[in-house]
Amino acid sequence: MSDVAANLAAIRMNIAAAATAAGRDPAAIALVAVSKTQPQEAVRAAVEAGQLVFGESRVFEARDKWQALKAATPGLELHLIGPLQTNKVRDAIALFDVIETLDRPKLARILADEMRRAERWPRCLVQVNVGREAQKAGIDPDQADRLIAVCRDEYRLPVVGVMGIPPLEGDPAPHFDMLAAIAARNGLEIVSMGMSGDYPAAIKAGATHVRVGSAIFGAR
Ligand SMILES: *Cc1c(COP(=O)(O)O)cnc(C)c1O
Repeated sequence: MSDVAANLAAIRMNIAAAATAAGRDPAAIALVAVSKTQPQEAVRAAVEAGQLVFGESRVFEARDKWQALKAATPGLELHLIGPLQTNKVRDAIALFDVIETLDRPKLARILADEMRRAERWPRCLVQVNVGREAQKAGIDPDQADRLIAVCRDEYRLPVVGVMGIPPLEGDPAPHFDMLAAIAARNGLEIVSMGMSGDYPAAIKAGATHVRVGSAIFGAR
């Protein structure tokens, strides 16, 4: 597992280099280590290497892997980066600190109800389907402003940013620019974009959070 520590160090250097090249403060970019499908030993190695922010795709997988470790690790922050079904909202609120995949009004309503009930308020990002791909989750870019407004004004959710995944093929830069623009015009501070293959480009376009999995933990 020493690979994990070495990979993390290399990625932190790449993040700093990309930030500096873009005239940005490296400290303004958070690395979300995506540990979906990775075993306990791998995430422990990352925690021991000083990584405190992690992304998981599935609520129950995350709970099994993280519940005890999170309780034992001050400062640990878990992000949900996979689609959230309404019947798992309660479990998601109990475990996650940031829910990056808020993408529809019905989910907003149920999140608001369950947060009030639990008296726990994970921050939320609105997921935008920047490439308008049929198979991808996320709100259509044309409806993003409206959904953000509904989440904040109607449901009083702590919406603090946006998240997006550009299409696999082609230049991601226009999609990154679009997502950053949606955040800016809505006064949102977090822009979660960029993965193992494209995080330097995302930083250039204004990412505040990059979600990196395989470059840290190896292929899944
Ligand atoms: C898996 C995943 C990532 C990480 O992808 P890598 O290519 O392994 O870095 C980032 N974001 C989301 C939403 C993911 O599902």
